[in-house]
Parts: sequence; C-alpha cells; structure tokens
Amino acid sequence: MESVSKVYGGHHLAVDNVSLEIADGEFMVLLGPSGCGKTTMLRMIAGLEELTGGELWLDRTPAADLTPKDRGVAFVFQSGALYPNRTARENIMFPLRMAGEEPAAASTKAAGLAKILRIVPTLDRLPRTLSGGQRQRVAIGRAIVRQPRIFLMDEPLSNLDATMRTELRQEIGAMVRDLKVTTVYVTHDQVEALTLADRIAIMRDGRIEDVGTPAQIYNDPATAFVAGFLGTPRINLLSATVRVTARHRVSLDFGTQTLPLPPTDRRSLILSRHDGARVIVGARSDAITPAADGDDTDQLSGTLRALEFHGNQWIAFIHCGIEVLNPDFVGPAPTTSRSLVERPRIRHAAAHGSALSTMARS
Ligand code: ATP
Repeated sequence: MESVSKVYGGHHLAVDNVSLEIADGEFMVLLGPSGCGKTTMLRMIAGLEELTGGELWLDRTPAADLTPKDRGVAFVFQSGALYPNRTARENIMFPLRMAGEEPAAASTKAAGLAKILRIVPTLDRLPRTLSGGQRQRVAIGRAIVRQPRIFLMDEPLSNLDATMRTELRQEIGAMVRDLKVTTVYVTHDQVEALTLADRIAIMRDGRIEDVGTPAQIYNDPATAFVAGFLGTPRINLLSATVRVTARHRVSLDFGTQTLPLPPTDRRSLILSRHDGARVIVGARSDAITPAADGDDTDQLSGTLRALEFHGNQWIAFIHCGIEVLNPDFVGPAPTTSRSLVERPRIRHAAAHGSALSTMARS
C-alpha cells in the first residue's frame, strides 16, 4: 500500500495516508482500538471498498486493475455466515464446486482441511447443530479451501468464549504457517496479535503508528500510545525532565523525585545531549524490582495504595508522588499480603536504569 487513504461520505477520513508492505507468506496483524480503520484496510485489499487516494499493489499488479474475484483473497468475518441448508462438508466444498471441481476431489480436500481444523466429526452436520467455534472453523475451512493468495480475517475469534478462542487461535496460527498463505488479520486483542503475528501494525485514527515484530513493538515502541497498547499490566508511563550534570551524568527529574541513570546505559548516552528535555519514561512492571533496604541511590519511593492477587503474581499499585498514569508493580508474591499492606510507606518501586525505556519519539 502506498499512501492509501479512504474517505467515507466525502468527509470522514477512515484511513489516512497509510503505506505498508506485506511480504509473501507473512502473517500481518492490524491491531488498534475500535474505529481506527482496520476493517476498512481489509476491505480495500479485498476490493470491496475503493481507495480515495494512494495505490494498492498485489505483487506487481495495481489492484485497481483487478476485480475482487481476480485478487485471490479469502475473507473470514467475525461470525462466518454459512449456508444453513448445507452440511459442514458441503459448505467447505462449495467454492471448489463453484470452480468446477469434481465432487470426489472436492470432498477429499474438505476432509483434509477438516482434519487440520479438527472438525472431522461435524462434517455431515448442518450449521445450526454446531457450536460457535465449530461454525467458525467451517467458515475458515471454506475460505481457505481454494488456496487463496491472501487470507483476510476480521476478528474471527471475537464471538467465541475464552477457551475456544485460545484453541482456535493456536489452530489458525498452525494452519496459516503450514499453508504459507499471506495473511492480514484484524484484531483489537493484544494476545492474538502477540502470539500470531510475524509483524504487527498498530493503528490509531486511520494511521499506522508503529510496525514491527511483536518483540520490537513490545520492547521498543515508537510512541507512548503503542507502549500502552501492548502488555499486561499496562506499562507505567511517567513524565520527566532530563537533567545532565557537568560530568555528563544523566538523571530523570520527576518533580518530587530524581532518578540517576547508570552512565553506561545506552539511554544515558542518548539523553546526555538533551538537558532539559521533557520525556515520557516507560517502565514495564516486570522490569521494576523492590530495592534493598538502605540502597537509596537509584530508586523511587512510594506509598502502596493497593495490592492485587492475580494467581501467578501480585500487582502492587504504588503512588510515587509524581505524575503516574499507571503505577503498578509486580513483585515476588509476598507470603501474606498483610506483610506488605501493614507497612503504610514502603520504600521501593526502584526503577533501575535497566528498567527504564525512554521513548524517543514521544
Ligand atoms: P472495529 O474494531 O470497531 O471494527 P475498525 O478499526 O475496523 O473498527 P473501521 O470499521 O475500518 O474501523 O471504521 C473506521 C472508521 O470509518 C470508523 O469511524 C467508522 O465509523 C467509519 N466507517 C466505516 N465504514 C463506513 C461507511 N461505510 N460509511 C461511513 N463511515 C464508515
């Protein structure tokens, strides 16, 4: 896609100057909040929506020269509509039969896909007798049976319960990798994005705000919005001012507290040229550790506001007396929550240099 835009009704800018190259066989996830333009992107790729501006290419062919049928795309929606009077097998076979394939060959292909999608026992049943997850598997089977060049999926798991969602997510991942079909997958679920994608494009207000592998986006987000979109609990985002001493030592001034960065830290080197700059500091909770008692040099102290038990971890909410958007902190599970709660003012939430990630573009 080159500088692609879509304006609805003459004024509503749904996709705003997006450029994106998706490689052959790549699994690209479009992730973003509701209304950011994800579905519109898919519909333009499929040829269901005309571009208002820019160009879209499929391989070396301008998509404008191709009808939706010629594009070789298969689309799976939130709830794949099936033909109600045809069995699961007939639904999956349907596109092959329409293309003139013999019933026996089509049936064999349907059975092969049913195995991958684990719906063999349901093949001779009608859609209304299937569960939501089984129906969605049939819809996926039907979409992919003709070996599309591009597989487009628009929140295919959103109508399923949590267990079914995890199971089908894994199967979609395995199936797409086996078949090596280029896939564009829309979701607003960060777990789906992180687990399925080769690359993720994070969208906001019709634009792509960041694009990269899940690890790149998670560890080195382009903006504070992107940082806040991935990761549970949400990343801590703190406003600070950079202070550089005469000896090039860098500290982050949070207003009421100051945190020196280790001089060897990569971020120290970058920030040492930006005395007085306002920055947003992102610190994921799993990078923050309680400081040892008496170690006052590179830590922040705060007041414990709440402690939540999450099964495999505790999450502490700490007020640091600074602008803290999401002051959470994950520590080793205390033997009892009371031992921490009973100390009204705990000295920790030390954000060591290694725990900090400054976002250059923020
Ligand atoms: P969701 O996650 O809620 O499905 P989305 O990211 O897929 O959202 P789109 O469906 O692409 O977003 O919509 C982007 C914007 O364009 C929204 O503001 C939506 O209201 C608007 N929009 C979508 N389709 C049309 C249409 N046919 N006519 C007018 N506006 C539309």
